[in-house]
Amino acid sequence: MSEKIIKHLIARGFSTTNMVNSLGEIVQKLNGFADVKTAESWDNVGLLIEPATPKPIQKIFLTNDLTEKVLHEAVEKKTDLIISYHPPIFSGLKTITQKSWKTRLVSVCLENRIALYSPHTSWDNNRGAIGDWLAKALPHKESHIILPSAENSNIGCGRVAQVESNTPITLADSIERVKKHTGIRTVQVAIGVNKTLNSTVNSFAVCPGSGSSVLKGVQADLYISGEMSHHDVLEAIHNNVSVILCNHSNSERGYLTEFKDTLANLLDDSSIEIQLSESDADPLVTY
Ligand SMILES: [Zn+2]
Repeated sequence: MSEKIIKHLIARGFSTTNMVNSLGEIVQKLNGFADVKTAESWDNVGLLIEPATPKPIQKIFLTNDLTEKVLHEAVEKKTDLIISYHPPIFSGLKTITQKSWKTRLVSVCLENRIALYSPHTSWDNNRGAIGDWLAKALPHKESHIILPSAENSNIGCGRVAQVESNTPITLADSIERVKKHTGIRTVQVAIGVNKTLNSTVNSFAVCPGSGSSVLKGVQADLYISGEMSHHDVLEAIHNNVSVILCNHSNSERGYLTEFKDTLANLLDDSSIEIQLSESDADPLVTY
């Protein structure tokens, strides 16, 4: 920490010697849960916005997407750190002006001294995170990673599992279970060509978000994802695989409720308040 910053902090009444819950400390814990090095190489993850003057992190705000509406909520709630699953900054920004919503996000965060961290594919690729959460929609004992990384077979995206249940689980049951698990009212369903709603689901594969490339060709009775292209859905049902689609972020957002507890355990500090966004929602709504 520079001398100038320390003087500035002392002038504002902070004692830097015992500054607990620093941003650096919390980022370290987040990386301990899902190392940003395990994210896909094309991704943009980790600490994306760091205000110039450090301060203790007392309020952490969780959202799937950081829209202007969600950021407004975070500012109102006096958040110190936003964890946004999807990175709001993805490609290079040449200016930080008020002309586009993306750069307004950066500007508002800095002005309100709010830090921003995005885990994205580091969560997709780690055990105990978003992929395993979505797989919990259907009962199973263990799951396998669909696309393991070359360096570590326990890192990678997509999960495939055998259903483990005392009574058979049908496609109709699976639809209800997915709705309950993700907390959504409606899903889109495509039924495998030789199947019905009463067909038993013995195996299933999941991919939160956009599942087409991960799920393609995977042997299972059912795919569960957020979105897939029309042609990939046609391909799946002609391979006799049924498909349940929740809308992109509806297949991800529910994980934040589980992560809230995970984070509370990681931080082990009851003085830090963790809030779930109330305005974060999928932009597509079924009428
Ligand atoms: Zn996504």
